[in-house]
Amino acid sequence: MIGGDLFAEEETVTGVMQRLKVGRVLHHERTEVQNLVVFEHGFLGRVMTLDGAVQTTEFDEFIYHEMLAHTSILAHGAAKKVLIIGGGDGGMAEEALKHPIERLLQVDIDRSVCDIAQVHLSSICKGAFEDPRMELMIADGVDYVSKAPEQFDVIIVDSTDPIGPGEVLFTESFYRDCKKCLTPGGIIVTQNGIPMLEVHSQQRSYIRLGKSFADVTFFLAPVPTYYGGHMAFGFASDDPAKKDVPLEILEERFEKSGIDTQYYNPEIHRGAFAHPQFFKKALKEALGG
Ligand code: SAM
Repeated sequence: MIGGDLFAEEETVTGVMQRLKVGRVLHHERTEVQNLVVFEHGFLGRVMTLDGAVQTTEFDEFIYHEMLAHTSILAHGAAKKVLIIGGGDGGMAEEALKHPIERLLQVDIDRSVCDIAQVHLSSICKGAFEDPRMELMIADGVDYVSKAPEQFDVIIVDSTDPIGPGEVLFTESFYRDCKKCLTPGGIIVTQNGIPMLEVHSQQRSYIRLGKSFADVTFFLAPVPTYYGGHMAFGFASDDPAKKDVPLEILEERFEKSGIDTQYYNPEIHRGAFAHPQFFKKALKEALGG
């Protein structure tokens, strides 16, 4: 509390606190897995935090969800089955289901997050959880992929950060098991942190994904509520062409999808794979370059 006002504080990086003034607390629960809070903010709209970390806000969730869902599915070009690991707010599923996919399986470790999203974050998940193509499974994503019971064309790892329950979703064995859950030519994309703050995180994923996939890179997008500049998203497959789909083909696929976006478009898609020099150097260094 400061001057009678309630604030949600997050230490985004050592010594840097992000403080959001809480308008109204809509839900606060210590679930079986994490500390879940949904509150209203002056201009960010509704905000979800898990264990004190901002997960999604009505203000800019579209950037994150559009970029992870459309970049992967339109790069693939013929995805019929999509697996989301995490994604409890339902925003990723909502974007993925805009495509003519036949099946979406979402594996999230925390039922409360998925339930509360449908109550307080309907502007983000909309009808995703009711879509007949969507199956929600409550399980640890690392356990699900270790059994590799089914194969998917695209896997989207929409997890919390590599601390707490999300930590296992950044391991070499997790990525190896994800590979077993991908059809030939399949693509995995991952939430992978902020290069300006934690380039070691992308370097680590670069190495670990590289153990199972022939071609690994990252694409970048600015998500304002994630402090520190552009967010990096891992992109891995066994086909280098998947990360470099010509603009004309992306335009054709995007046009055909009929999806109305606020951030994603084919030029942004291609531009997102361009890396600033420090990031290029960091990835080269990661491989001993
Ligand atoms: N956009 C957010 C970000 O970039 O950090 C992620 C949002 S989404 C709410 C994160 C989800 O990951 C949560 O619903 C959480 O329950 C889920 N999660 C965390 N660890 C998990 C695990 N091991 N298996 C499956 N889901 C997990």
